[in-house]
Amino acid sequence: MHHKPVIAANWKLNHGPTDAKAFLQRFLAQAPKMNDRTLVFFPSAITVTTVVDGLRERPDIWVGVQNVHSEAQGAFTGENSVLMARDVGARVVLVGHSERRHVFGETDEMTTKKMALICQARLVPMLCVGETLEEREAGATASVVERQLTAGLAELDDSQAAGIMLAYEPVWAIGTGRTATPEDASAIHSVLRAALGSRLGEKAAAGVPILYGGSVNRGNAATLLSAADVDGLLVGGASLDADSWASIVRS
Ligand code: PEP
Repeated sequence: MHHKPVIAANWKLNHGPTDAKAFLQRFLAQAPKMNDRTLVFFPSAITVTTVVDGLRERPDIWVGVQNVHSEAQGAFTGENSVLMARDVGARVVLVGHSERRHVFGETDEMTTKKMALICQARLVPMLCVGETLEEREAGATASVVERQLTAGLAELDDSQAAGIMLAYEPVWAIGTGRTATPEDASAIHSVLRAALGSRLGEKAAAGVPILYGGSVNRGNAATLLSAADVDGLLVGGASLDADSWASIVRS
């Protein structure tokens, strides 16, 4: 692994600006600057400016958005664009989160377009891949995540592809309290690493952080993070409480 662990908080539809300010005050008091890891917050789009402002003194912590639209601009009421995300200070964009795919019907074609727009805007995409329980039970996990990865990289050149972040998030583990075992996570991460390797070569593939996400909490974070090929954590529910999140980032 040639990079620092990436520990990312996905706040989903939680924490408006007022809550976010209180969260940051409490969190920053117990989270001194850490040079050995990269922290990322994904607040709701409405809360991004508050979080960027609250982290002015902490350039070591990145802020991202949870989604962008698959077109650059136009008549798409309610959506946010890549350039708007960059304008408010986001550095990272989540793409293909399981809730986008399974609640909002995001397709592989849409993730292909989003990944290209994000890289053109020189932001970092964090592509989420993961199988449903049904796909897992059918033995299709590897083929599902490889298909999702291939779609995500389809319109990127090799240097753009080498600059992405990847998150393996089994759908059955998200928000369910059911976590993949460290061995399961390592096995799928190595499938993803091999797929990246055949596209980019081994050296570039080793530089792509592959995060695990799915019911990570302060009790299991350290074990998952120390599993082979796990380069970081993407955390939903357990990132909402400042004390719980501070304890996870210290894992
Ligand atoms: C997520 O939303 O990316 C996630 C992993 O959620 P949770 O940690 O709540 O399972």
